[in-house]
Amino acid sequence: MKAHLAAVLVLAAPAATSALAQQQDFSKVEIKAEKVAEGVYMLTGAGGNIGLSVGRSGTYVIDDQFAPLTDKILAAIRAITPDPVRFVINTHLHGDHTGGNENLGKAGALVVAHENVRRRMSAEQFSATFNRTTPASPEGALPVVTFTEAVTFHWNGDEIRVHHVAPAHTDGDSIVRFVKADVVHMGDLFFNGGYPFIDTSSGGRVDGVIAAAEETLAAIGEKTRIIPGHGPLATRADLQSYRDTLTLLRDRIAKLKAEGKSRDEVIAAKPTADHDAKWGAGFMKGDTFTGLVYDSLR
Ligand SMILES: [Zn+2]
Repeated sequence: MKAHLAAVLVLAAPAATSALAQQQDFSKVEIKAEKVAEGVYMLTGAGGNIGLSVGRSGTYVIDDQFAPLTDKILAAIRAITPDPVRFVINTHLHGDHTGGNENLGKAGALVVAHENVRRRMSAEQFSATFNRTTPASPEGALPVVTFTEAVTFHWNGDEIRVHHVAPAHTDGDSIVRFVKADVVHMGDLFFNGGYPFIDTSSGGRVDGVIAAAEETLAAIGEKTRIIPGHGPLATRADLQSYRDTLTLLRDRIAKLKAEGKSRDEVIAAKPTADHDAKWGAGFMKGDTFTGLVYDSLR
């Protein structure tokens, strides 16, 4: 469990990997709520950004960070609404997005996710990038409603469309779109302001990350607010800049790979160097990102 926590904390705590020990102390984490649209909020604490919808149907949560934070998350929600959490959506399997599942399930929420989230959480997972094994989740933490392509919630006066995308950050990613509120939660398909982690051990592929950004850009408007998996609340322009950067770097790395260079040679060529100051300042460094892009290119 400790190793698992460390793995997800690396993801959750950009720029703080050397302070990992302190990061494991959840007592210092504060959950903050930011209003995104009428009835829609983004909650931040430690781990993936949480989406929250409140209103006449009930409370609806997208991702739930770490188990030790559930009480604080519920307190932050109670400051907004007295209604209990009815649904939890997992954008993907990682522990910094699903760690609260068991607690929220016990409190009466139904956890919903793509079938690959449940499949992977049901078995031990190994991350080659972090050389760590995550044990299978207990039954109470597993999504109880799964879907293969998409599911729509008619909830809180909105249409909340959840749909699965081709392998990207993992092979179980979903995007959640509030049609009326004009808000999108992209989970870890979008790291706002940093290189994304491409979890190749969980079926992730850089081409899928770029495709998910393209698809979202085509579907949203100028005023759409985007909740990223990590990083601050985003605009369409932020997502465009992310897409452009990833496309440029993917093409550079693909060219080197096509020339026959090995993984080590491509990393040594530093194809991301001119972007590392801006995009590699968080937990995902240019070299690691380059290796993951290389691995996931076909
Ligand atoms: Zn993730």
